[in-house]
Amino acid sequence: MNQINRYIDSVFYHEDALLEEVISSIRENDMPSISVSPSSGKLLTLLISISGSKNVLEIGALGGYSGICLARGFGKEGKLTSLELEEEYAKLAHNNLSKAGFGNQVTYLTGPALESLKTLVGENKRFDFFFIDADKGNYETYLDYCIRLAEPGALIVADNTLARGSVADPGIEPKRYTDVMKKFNEAVAKHPQLESTLIPIGDGMTLSRVKK
Ligand code: SAM
Repeated sequence: MNQINRYIDSVFYHEDALLEEVISSIRENDMPSISVSPSSGKLLTLLISISGSKNVLEIGALGGYSGICLARGFGKEGKLTSLELEEEYAKLAHNNLSKAGFGNQVTYLTGPALESLKTLVGENKRFDFFFIDADKGNYETYLDYCIRLAEPGALIVADNTLARGSVADPGIEPKRYTDVMKKFNEAVAKHPQLESTLIPIGDGMTLSRVKK
């Protein structure tokens, strides 16, 4: 798994000064180093540009690394709504998105994502792309909210769904999120409103399309 990811990054990763600055800013602010991997970020950009998504919802902003990758996919014409628990993280993310030229296209809603999602449902908002990358224990609930907020045909991507490979390998010592991710993947796979697969890139990304 790590070997494959190292290979992918070594061939497909091109130096990216802006994203490297984001990583440095996260480190300088003593925030956790848990942004998506470069290859996962590239996949997000590609998925958004291929699907033509313009109205994106992200759950879990941290310092804005994935936010920039998402915004690069829609360019000048899209909008990102990003949910983040920590006010300080959202501020740094906004600062980094601004440096990347997307500051006016992103709205941060701070506080517990479950509260923000409830508000978005109440406001009858709709999105055509979702990226779930926050507290793993709430993934299934986040998925339900995403489906409620989805335009027909919307894409939903959830990160870390291989739990470092432990979901697939009984020999790997159980990790904190192994069972949560197994249960999440099974729920996604059998959900009647979704067509889904799991892409083994980075820490694994479960990709779903909401049926029309
Ligand atoms: N997507 C980011 C990236 O790749 O640049 C990384 C997100 S990081 C893995 C998870 C983020 O979710 C953290 O910034 C954390 O503060 C946030 N988070 C955790 N629990 C949350 C909650 N209940 N509501 C909203 N955000 C939450």
